[in-house]
Amino acid sequence: MSKVRIECWKCHADVLLIDRSDADGECPRCGVEIALDDYLIQAMDARDALAAENERLRKDRAACWAEFKALVKSSNDTGRYLHDEIERLTARVAELERDAGRYRWLRGRLPGSAYRIAGVIYSEGGDGVDAAVDAAMAAQAEKESTHE
Ligand SMILES: [Zn+2]
Repeated sequence: MSKVRIECWKCHADVLLIDRSDADGECPRCGVEIALDDYLIQAMDARDALAAENERLRKDRAACWAEFKALVKSSNDTGRYLHDEIERLTARVAELERDAGRYRWLRGRLPGSAYRIAGVIYSEGGDGVDAAVDAAMAAQAEKESTHE
C-alpha cells in the first residue's frame, strides 16, 4: 500500500496512496478529491486482461513446445536417414572403387600396341582402351534399343 501510486485525474500528478490517505482522500498537489472506485475498476480490468494474456501465452507455450518436439523428432529422423544414407553410399563407393580397380588392373595388362575390343582394333594406350570400351558399350546399347 505504501508504494502504490495512482495518477490524479485532474492534475495528472503521480500520487502515492499513502499521501492521498494523509490528505483525507484528496490530491496532495491540486486538492481535488480522488475517489478510488475508478482506479479499482481499472485495476480489475487490467487484472482480467493480464489473466487472459497469461492464458493465451500458456496455450502458445504449449503449442511451441509441441512444435519444438515435432521438429526435434523430424531432425532426429532426418539425422538417422542421412546417417543410413551415408553408410549406404560409402559402401556403394567402395564397391564401385573395387570395380574400377579391377577395370584399371585389366586395362593395364592389355598388350600395349593394339587392342581388339568388340571387334574393333585400337592401338592407343589406356585412353584408347577407355574409348574402345565406351564405343563398344554405346554400340551395344544402340543395338539393344533398336531391338526393343
Ligand atoms: Zn491533482
